[in-house]
Amino acid sequence: MNPVKPVPVIAIHGGAGTIARAHAGHGQAAAYHAAMQEILLAAQQLLGAGGSALDAVSLAVDLLEDCTLFNAGRGAVFTHEGTHELDAAIMDGATLRAGAVACVSRIRRPLRAARAVMERSEHVLLVGAGAEAFAQACGLEQVAPDYFSTDARRAQLQRALLADVTLLDHDAPALSFGTRSAAPLDEDRKLGTVGAVALDAAGNLAAATSTGGMTNKRVGRVGDSPLIGAGTYADNRTAAISCTGTGEMFIRSVTAYDICARMAYAGQSLDAAAQALVMQVLPAIGGRGGLIALDARGNLSCPFNTEGMYRGHARVGQTPQTAIFAE
Ligand code: ASP
Repeated sequence: MNPVKPVPVIAIHGGAGTIARAHAGHGQAAAYHAAMQEILLAAQQLLGAGGSALDAVSLAVDLLEDCTLFNAGRGAVFTHEGTHELDAAIMDGATLRAGAVACVSRIRRPLRAARAVMERSEHVLLVGAGAEAFAQACGLEQVAPDYFSTDARRAQLQRALLADVTLLDHDAPALSFGTRSAAPLDEDRKLGTVGAVALDAAGNLAAATSTGGMTNKRVGRVGDSPLIGAGTYADNRTAAISCTGTGEMFIRSVTAYDICARMAYAGQSLDAAAQALVMQVLPAIGGRGGLIALDARGNLSCPFNTEGMYRGHARVGQTPQTAIFAE
């Protein structure tokens, strides 16, 4: 019997969080939907033309990093010292090869640097100045650190400094002062991070994640996004996963890998495993956020334990779907 060929699919996320009360149901929801649609269409086209899952997640995250609506690349949040430290990772489900960078502030496209680590070094994770030197040697574009700065993020840091809290981009304690943007998820209470998972026509899975981390985070802090198995994982035998949320809890519960382990060892379905992590395991240790997960048959699961998560998916030959709040 010939195995049924999978329909290629791309899924993306742009962070999870809390509805911006002042703008619930209004805000710039249309701008977020439009940005996600455009990114999905580009990746869908690539997959439809026979492109690989790895190239599809790379393209989607490139575009998400460049879009200032999301906390990754340009528009990244500030550390406590008013600097930027970006993290990114990519994984190939066919070979279990992976690459990541952490605490970089001069690489324009951190996900491309992560892919270079995977393809052009014998390592998996490079950090700080060493990662930047490697990226430069690979010919990747360097920028002055203030390239990533936006006025909105600077104002967000000022509010966090005044309140003396560490803000996850989409989900920190409410601050009742300062200017609010018209984003549908409260920018001071939103978990940042962007990510993508894809399945290609050859049946290969890939995952990629990129983030600015948390507003007011300690310099040198690394979240779950660049840690293989925590915020990012892909294995053709089980699933491809990209997470967004309170990174420390995602690291402690090894979220992405645990979903694959539950599928492999306990025979759980993708959705059962993903729901268990997001609705039980993470909340039990105070973890908030969500994830996108895709298995090799094209099943998709996008659970989140916050009020909303920017997300969308596109199967080749079908209209892209995007959503922000719970259905
Ligand atoms: N998980 C990311 C981190 O902890 C933050 C986020 O998703 O907003 O760095």
